[in-house]
Amino acid sequence: MAKRLLPVLMLFGLFLAGCGAPEGQAPPRSLLLVVVDTLCADHTSAYGYARETTPQLERLAAEGARVSTVYAPTATTGPTHAALFTGRHPRSVGVRRNAVPLPEGFATLAEQLADAGLETAGIVSSFVLNRRFGFDRGFGMWDDQFDRERSTVGHRRFEGHVLEEGFDRRASDTTDRALQWLAGVGGAPFFLFVHYFDPHEPYVPPAPYVRRFAVDADASPRVRAAVLYDAEVSYTDAEIGRLLAGLDDLGLAGETLVAVTADHGEGLLDHGYLFHDVFLYEEAVRVPLVLRGPGIPAGQVLSGPVSLVDLLPTLLDLMDRPSPSGIAGRSFAPALAGGALPDAERPIVLERRVFSSDRVGTIPVRGEKLAVREGRWKYIEAPEEKRRELYDLESDPGERVNLAQREPARAAALAERLVRWRRETPAIPPAAPVSPEDEERLEALGYAE
Ligand SMILES: [Zn+2]
Repeated sequence: MAKRLLPVLMLFGLFLAGCGAPEGQAPPRSLLLVVVDTLCADHTSAYGYARETTPQLERLAAEGARVSTVYAPTATTGPTHAALFTGRHPRSVGVRRNAVPLPEGFATLAEQLADAGLETAGIVSSFVLNRRFGFDRGFGMWDDQFDRERSTVGHRRFEGHVLEEGFDRRASDTTDRALQWLAGVGGAPFFLFVHYFDPHEPYVPPAPYVRRFAVDADASPRVRAAVLYDAEVSYTDAEIGRLLAGLDDLGLAGETLVAVTADHGEGLLDHGYLFHDVFLYEEAVRVPLVLRGPGIPAGQVLSGPVSLVDLLPTLLDLMDRPSPSGIAGRSFAPALAGGALPDAERPIVLERRVFSSDRVGTIPVRGEKLAVREGRWKYIEAPEEKRRELYDLESDPGERVNLAQREPARAAALAERLVRWRRETPAIPPAAPVSPEDEERLEALGYAE
């Protein structure tokens, strides 16, 4: 009797499992989350860039969904990853700059999925995501050790921390390790987090990409930086392709939710700054987001805007799992299945890491900077820099004409939004202060708060 009932129960179980997923489809068993460090949406051909930098991302988008307007909550690696992993704003978990540990007590995506019985691993490519900063929480395996000889960055110290090992590694090494781990999972459901670092400076693409992305000898510094950056993006995209092909070869692609995004963009001298961290202009915070998996119709384009703070609840929702309570992010899974965004008018708030120095290079910086995007408008304020900016992103997507003086009522209304947001999102202090020597060192480097 029991033997005859088992297939019926199994079928019933399948039916139940499929209830929350569209078209009666079972939700994805596994999750592959890929974060490319320093990848601007605007430099990917998947988002309309003229140079074909990301054919693999384009293909993934054709097989799944692309979200047109996606904001990283900050332009800094550690804080954005803290938000990705908790579904909360960086200031509300006390991670407002790099090298600050993610405090205990905020449930992470990996913890949620490990509790649900998934095998979990993180393969990262930069010291900024080292386990000493708590990003490994909930992961059964965290691969963050790099050869010094193979690193592209020569730092032996970073924000007061001494490095025993290399600072970073190339995408090809990271892909190899990710595929090795996947091959060992043996059919168990998994959550694999893969972080690539190559588009981050220094822009030193591997030789074949240097040849493909040749720079004219008389090119301006801006053009030269962009071409080398594009070469790094293209190399990373090819590695994402190799990772996805490996997933396919293992027979796991059909049951795996894949999400590819970035932790922030890059200045590339659009507003006079080459790197990230200091500004909240579009090039520093607009990132790609492509998702593919069971329940996501192929070729879907969702306009957004959404924040990466929303990604944790969205991924959990797509996997038919509850989100932790009290988070700031909201799931946009229904929109991916063809529905509407739960709150399309919701303002998107961005925050910059806090500086106590007066400048980074030639750029004046001081204290906190916040921005809010609402509809076509974007307002940026840095009280200690005594600077307020208002842009009409529809008529001025490059943020060239500051309308704060011309549209005082609109600027004031958006400033009020930020007042409310600050109240609703209190900043908590960093989990563990750095040592006095480290503090001194950070001060000297202009990094300390
Ligand atoms: Zn980063």
